[in-house]
Amino acid sequence: MRNNHATQLIFELSTTGRSGVVLPQCDVPVKQAETLIPDSLLQLAPPPLPEVTEPEVIRHFTNLSTLNMSVDTHYYPLGSCTMKYNPKRNERIAAWDGLAQLHPYQSEASIQGMLQLLFELQQMLGEISGLPAVSLQPAAGAHGELTALMVAAAFFRQQSQHRTKVLAPDSAHGTNPASARMAGFDFVTIRSQADGRVDVQHLKENLGDDTAVFMITNPSTLGLFDDQVQTIADLVHDAGGLIYLDGANMNAILGITRPGDFGADMMHFNPHKTFSGPHGGGGPGAGPICVTETLRSFLPCPTVAFCDESQMYFLDDRSEASIGRVRSFFGNVGVLVRAYCYIRTHGPDGLKRVSETAVLNANYLLSQVKQFLDVPHGDRCMHEFVASASPIKETTGLKQPAMDIAKRLLDYGFHPPTVYFPLTVPEGLMMEPTETESKQTLDAFAATLRTIAEEPAETLRHAPHTTKIRRPDEVMAARKPIVKWTETAD
Ligand SMILES: *Cc1c(COP(=O)(O)O)cnc(C)c1O
Repeated sequence: MRNNHATQLIFELSTTGRSGVVLPQCDVPVKQAETLIPDSLLQLAPPPLPEVTEPEVIRHFTNLSTLNMSVDTHYYPLGSCTMKYNPKRNERIAAWDGLAQLHPYQSEASIQGMLQLLFELQQMLGEISGLPAVSLQPAAGAHGELTALMVAAAFFRQQSQHRTKVLAPDSAHGTNPASARMAGFDFVTIRSQADGRVDVQHLKENLGDDTAVFMITNPSTLGLFDDQVQTIADLVHDAGGLIYLDGANMNAILGITRPGDFGADMMHFNPHKTFSGPHGGGGPGAGPICVTETLRSFLPCPTVAFCDESQMYFLDDRSEASIGRVRSFFGNVGVLVRAYCYIRTHGPDGLKRVSETAVLNANYLLSQVKQFLDVPHGDRCMHEFVASASPIKETTGLKQPAMDIAKRLLDYGFHPPTVYFPLTVPEGLMMEPTETESKQTLDAFAATLRTIAEEPAETLRHAPHTTKIRRPDEVMAARKPIVKWTETAD
């Protein structure tokens, strides 16, 4: 059987003169393009498109799609990303014509349903976070970080306070320092202690009247809840600064505790993680932010509001202190609709059960994995944990055992965990099972991981052995992707 469709480019399947469509005879007089369009605007040659039949196109892209791993096809324990199953019901609802076919320039009166949905989502996120003022505009978690830091900057400007520094622990996601710099702040890294919690002494040494914001991810990227968070919040507030909570790990604490209750002034949600929006491959996502009443007036405009008098929802852009728009229209509304469906489907008790099950699953997997891999902070975890492949380095001589194990998992049909993050764990393998996996799947994954950990170094070094693409240069692929086909490409 010819089985190389999926590795051939569609251009290589092209046969001159072949077509996928048959157009009807033209029933109006034909004129040449040259008689209608100035020479300078005309193409010299037809565009170099592949000439293929419809079945060839369908087979090509269907075959390509099966080379990818996805939540729908494989177990996907990618730590920090919360790759939970995305209920198909939410997809169907988000595609309803009444939601998906709206035009953002329609009059407010004609989109009351959508505005009500967004308004209620604002309220639900405010309730879940304990931070009542909400903007749905940011387009991703990182964008939420940037937006909230801009809100903080506007607040301090209004207070005539010159605060220049944003601080975050060394286990923070790379987007934290990046957002701080983009928002115009200097960034200071705060050390973690040996137990993975924030080094409060080091934080104290760096707090001062130049401190604007301390960003904390809690539960942290190590999968630990930092129980010093209230103390930390008090210290930062006493210094006049604000607390930002990176909400990427909210999947562990829904309905159990609220950032607003443990001292946060601002946070973002990643609905594509916590509330089951499909993600990967670059978007679209959303990054709604929630802030305290004190910061409300600085939120991006417009927010969605309800007028008691007219009983109508409307886009409220009255706040003069607002930092303005950070995204066209209302943000990535499709992702927000899915989040709304997910939250409404579960309700308060259901959301709490989501987190309890996510934490239970992670602890079960941890109990298996620590039998054969080192887990530095591995007594207990929240919704994820970080194993270290460092000991394997010594026993096998492999230079990058975490990478090798990740690649080898592909041969066994598992998506790898997150590797080399957070930076505080050498040869880190960050695993997040999520609440949507069964005990059988977790057992199968742990057993496979154990098999791999005991395989010969040579087997690991050259893995994966069964995939079409083996080890692409990931940096080059991201920075200089080859997306254009040319005759000379080999
Ligand atoms: C995913 C993540 C982010 C960034 O969120 P995006 O939606 O990908 O921009 C920030 N912090 C942590 C801890 C994350 O896991």
